[in-house]
Amino acid sequence: MCLRRLLQSSQLQRAWRAAFLKHVQGRRPGARRWTHSGGGPYRAVIFDMGGVLLPSPGSVATEWEVQNHIPSGTIVKALISGGENGPWMKFMRAEITTEDFLQEFGRLCSEISKTSVPVDSFFSLLTSERVTKQFPVMTEAITQIRAKGLQTAVLSNNFYLPNGKSFLPLDRKQFDVVVESCLEGVCKPDPRIYKLCLERLGRQPSESIFLDDLGPNLKAAASLGIHTIKVHDLETAVKELETLLGFPLRMAVPNTRPVRKTMEIPKDALEKYLKDLLGTQPTGPLELLQFDHGQSNPTYYVKLANHQLVLRKKPPGTLLPSAHAVEREFRIMKALANAGVPVPKVLDLCEDSSVIGTPFYLMEYCPGLIYKDPSLPGLEPSQRRAIYTAMNRVLCKIHSVDLKAAGLEDYGKHGDYVARQVQTWIKQYRASETSTIPAMERLIEWLPLHLPRQQRTTVVHGDFRLDNLLFHPETAEVVAVLDWELSTLGDPLADVAYNCLAHYLPSGFPIQPGLSDCDLTELGIPTAEDYFRMYCLHMGIPPTENWNFYVAFSFFRIAAILQGVYKRSLTGQASSATAKQTGKLTEFMSNLAWDFAIKEGFRVFKEMPATKPLTRSLHTWCLLRTPGTRSYVTSTDSSPAYASKEALIFSPEGLPPRVRELYQRLKEFMERHVYPAEPELQRHQTSAERWTPSPLVEDLKEKAKAEGLWNLFLPLETDPEKKYGAGLTNMEYAHLCEVMGTSLYAPEIFNCSAPDTGNMELLVRYGTEEQKARWLIPLLEGKARSCFAMTEPQVASSDATNIESSIREEDGFYVISGHKWWITGGHGEVLFEQVRVPKENMVLGPGRGFEIAQGRLGPGRIHHCMRLIGCSERALALMKARVKSRVAFGKPLVEQGTVLADIALSRVEIEQARLLVLKAAHIMDVAGNKAAALDIAMIKMVAPSMASRVIDRAIQVFGAAGLSSNYPLAQFFTGARALRFADGPDEVHRAAVAKMELKHRS
Ligand SMILES: Cc1cc2nc3c(=O)[nH]c(=O)nc-3n(C[C@H](O)[C@H](O)[C@H](O)COP(=O)(O)OP(=O)(O)OC[C@H]3O[C@@H](n4cnc5c(N)ncnc54)[C@H](O)[C@@H]3O)c2cc1C
Repeated sequence: MCLRRLLQSSQLQRAWRAAFLKHVQGRRPGARRWTHSGGGPYRAVIFDMGGVLLPSPGSVATEWEVQNHIPSGTIVKALISGGENGPWMKFMRAEITTEDFLQEFGRLCSEISKTSVPVDSFFSLLTSERVTKQFPVMTEAITQIRAKGLQTAVLSNNFYLPNGKSFLPLDRKQFDVVVESCLEGVCKPDPRIYKLCLERLGRQPSESIFLDDLGPNLKAAASLGIHTIKVHDLETAVKELETLLGFPLRMAVPNTRPVRKTMEIPKDALEKYLKDLLGTQPTGPLELLQFDHGQSNPTYYVKLANHQLVLRKKPPGTLLPSAHAVEREFRIMKALANAGVPVPKVLDLCEDSSVIGTPFYLMEYCPGLIYKDPSLPGLEPSQRRAIYTAMNRVLCKIHSVDLKAAGLEDYGKHGDYVARQVQTWIKQYRASETSTIPAMERLIEWLPLHLPRQQRTTVVHGDFRLDNLLFHPETAEVVAVLDWELSTLGDPLADVAYNCLAHYLPSGFPIQPGLSDCDLTELGIPTAEDYFRMYCLHMGIPPTENWNFYVAFSFFRIAAILQGVYKRSLTGQASSATAKQTGKLTEFMSNLAWDFAIKEGFRVFKEMPATKPLTRSLHTWCLLRTPGTRSYVTSTDSSPAYASKEALIFSPEGLPPRVRELYQRLKEFMERHVYPAEPELQRHQTSAERWTPSPLVEDLKEKAKAEGLWNLFLPLETDPEKKYGAGLTNMEYAHLCEVMGTSLYAPEIFNCSAPDTGNMELLVRYGTEEQKARWLIPLLEGKARSCFAMTEPQVASSDATNIESSIREEDGFYVISGHKWWITGGHGEVLFEQVRVPKENMVLGPGRGFEIAQGRLGPGRIHHCMRLIGCSERALALMKARVKSRVAFGKPLVEQGTVLADIALSRVEIEQARLLVLKAAHIMDVAGNKAAALDIAMIKMVAPSMASRVIDRAIQVFGAAGLSSNYPLAQFFTGARALRFADGPDEVHRAAVAKMELKHRS
C-alpha cells in the first residue's frame, strides 16, 4: 500500500473515532466549547491548492512511481531540482510550454532515476479527474468559514494545460479571490504573490491565515506577518484552523446542514407535539437540522432535551400517486426491527397534516457512518471487502424475513413484481414527462417484452444501496438500514441488481460516485458479478442468467425517479438543491439502461441456436444411385430430388434443370473468363491502382450480367417474386457458390461477394422503398460496394457486447462515434467522429438490430463456407496435377505413400464439410435462418479449418512454389486462415454448439 493510502486510512480511523465520540458525547473529543461566532482577528483564510485542497503532486507521484516501476522519489527530486530556475517553477510561471516542460522534466527524471520515465503519463494522472477531487473536509470547512462571513482565497502555484486553460480543478465560487501563478508570472514563495492576494482580498497580513503543505511557502507568508498553518494531516490542520477562528468547521451532526428555506417546518408546533409525545420539559430550544440526503422524503435531525431524533416527512405540494408513503415506512421498520433486521427504532407516526403541514414519523437518531463514495476512499482493501460483505449479508437478511411471522403478508402483492414495477414506473415517468427521451421510449417498449419469471417473493427494500446504510463507526457492521420509502413485497433480485448500480457508474458521476473506472481488485471491492454470486451463495439459490435485464430495469427505474425529481424542481418543490441537475441525468440513466437491455438482447440472441435442433424428418437424405460427372458425386433416387422442397440435393446433377443449366454456364464462364484473367487481376491487386476498381473486373461484371450470372445469391425465401435475384434456394446456390469459391476474384465478378451479399439481403428484407432505391439498387447493379463495420481495435470484438461505438439522437440525426477496423472492401480502419446520419437511414428502427442480425449473419457465414469448399477443391486439383508431374528421389511424388494419404484425407474432409454445408443450407430453406443457426455454427467451425488443412497439404507438395504468387495457394491459405476468426472465432461457434449439445441432446 502506498504512503498516501496509509495516511488516508489512519486519518479515516481517527475520523471514525472522532465522529463516534462526538455522537455519544455531543461534542468533538478535546474540542473547546464554541462560544462565539466571527473569527476573532481573522477575516480571511487563504488556501494553497495541491496538498491542501487536493492531493499534492508529490503524493500523486508516490502512487504513480510504484505502478510504473520508477524509483521512488524520482518525481519529487525532479520537481525541486534547479530551485526557482528548475523546469517545474518555470512551468508554474508560464515561462515554458507544456511540451517544453515535459521534455525537460522527462530528461531530468531519466537522469535522476537512470531509466526512461514516461512523464506524460504522470502529467495525465496529475491532471486527471481521478486525483483532482477536493477533500470533503476542506469543502465543509470553506462552507463554514464563508457562512460566518469570512473571506476565502486560493493561492496556487499552477500551470497552463495544453488546451490553453489554467489548471484549477476547483469550484471557483467557493473563493472570493483566486490567485494563479501561471496567470501572474510569479510563484510562491515570491512575496509579491502573497501581497497580490492580500491586496485583492483587501486585507492586512495580520487579518489572514494561510494554509500550505510546503515549508518555504509558509515561511515566506509568515515573514509578511500572515498567520500560517502547515498542512501535513488534514484533520489536524482543520482543528488548528478551528482553534484560530474560534468556531467549528465541521457540522455537529454528520451529513446535515441548516434547514433549507423552502424546507422549513413550524418549530413551535413540532416542539409542542414532541413535549406531549416524550413527556419532556426541555431546558433549551428545539434544534433542527436537515440531512443532505433524502431527495424524496425530507429528513431532519431533531434535538429536544436529551432526545436525539430523526423526523421524516412527505414533501409539500401535490404528489405523484403512491409515492412518499411515510406510513408504510413506519410500518415496515417496526416489523423488521422485530424480525432482527437492523433498522432505526421508530417511535411515532403522525398522520395529521395540521401539525407540521404533512404526515411524518419519528425514529431514534442512530450514530454511525454513512459511506457516500462506494470506492470507500482511505480504507484498506480488507476493510472495503468487509463493508461490501456486511452490506450483502444484511440484504440477505432482509430477503429472508418470514413474511407471516413478521405480519407482512399483506405488505404488497405476491408475484409479478417486476411486471407491476415496470408498469408503475412507466406511469410515474409518463406523469412527470417533460420531453421525449428516445431511450426511455425504447425501454418502455422493451422491458415488458423481456420480463423475468419471478421465483421468490420477499420483502424488498426498493432503494438498497451503500449510502442508505449506517455503519458502526469502528467496525464493518451495519447498524441500520435507512430509507424504506420504496419497500414492498417483490422479487429480491431487483434489490441485488439495484445494489450494484454504482459498479456501472463512473467515479465522477454527479449524484452518486460510481466504480466503473476503478480497479476493483486493487481496491478489494467485489465486482458486481462476484457480489451477486456472494448473494446467491449465501441465499442458497442458483445465479440468474438475465442479470442484465434486472440492471436495465434498475437504471430505468432511476431514470423515472429522476424525471419526477426534475419535474418537481421545475415547480420549486424539490427537496434537494441538486434536483435541477437531474433533468440531464435522466437521459444519461436511460441510455445506460438501454445499454444493459442491449446486453440482455445479445444474451438472448446468443441463446438463439437454442431453438431445438431439428428432428430427423427435415433431413431427407437422397439415396445413392448413379455416379455423377464428378467422381465423388452421388445423385438422387428415382424421384427427382428437386421435386420436393424437403430433399437434400448433394450433387449438381440433382439440381432442377434451370439451376443445373445455370451451374453449367457458370462453370463455362469460369473456364472462359475468370481463370484466364487471374494473373492480370493479381497484378492489379498489387499495383498502385489497387484502390480503384479494376477495369477488367468491371468488364467481366458486365459480361456476367449479360449472361444472367448475376445476383445468384439472393434466396428465393427473401425474394419470392424474383424481383431482385435469380430465385435460387440456399441449397441450390451452395452448388453454384462453391464454383465461385474456386477463384478469389469470382465472387465480385458475379456480384456475389461479401459483405455486399449480406447487406443486399438485409436491405431486401428490411429496407424501406426509399432505402432500397438509394442503396439496394446500386448494389444490385454492381455500381456500389458496401461494408459491415463492427470490429474495433481497442476491444475484443468477437464478443459483441464489448463494442464501444456509440450512437445518439440529435436534431433529426443519429450521431455515430467509434473506431473500426478490418472493414472488408479494403480491410480499412476508419474513425467515425460525430458522424451525422439522417434518421431516415436507420434500417427497421432503433433497437431492432437483433432481428436484422438474425437475417444478416446466417447467410453471410454460410456463403463463406460454400466458397471454402470450392477453394479446397481447387487446391486439391492443383495438388493432384503437381504430384503427378513432379519427380523426387527417382519417382513422381504421387507414388509416395504420405502424398497418397494426404490426397485421401483431403478428399474425405472436403466431402464431410460439403455435406454439412448443404445440410445447413437445406435447413435454412425448409425451416428458416433462425432454425439453421446451430448448423451454421457447426459449418462455420468446420469449413475454415478443413480448408486450411487441405490447402496446407497442397502447399506442402508444391514446395516453395506453393508460397509464391505463381499459384493461388498462399492467398487461399490466408483467406481460409482469416475465416477462423472473421465472422466469429472458432471458439465462439464451438461454445454455441457445445451449449446446444448439452441443452437439447441429453
Ligand atoms: C480478412 C478479414 C476480414 C474481416 N472483415 C471484417 C468486416 O468486414 N467487418 C468487421 O466488422 N470485421 C471484420 N474482420 C474482423 C473479424 O471479424 C474479427 O477479427 C473477429 O471478429 C475477431 O475479433 P478480434 O479481432 O477483436 O479478436 P478478439 O475478439 O480479440 O479475439 C481474439 C481471439 O480470442 C479467442 N476467443 C475469443 N472469444 C473466445 C471464446 N469465447 N472462447 C475461447 N477463445 C475465444 C479466439 O481465439 C479469438 O480469435 C475481418 C477480419 C479479417 C482477418
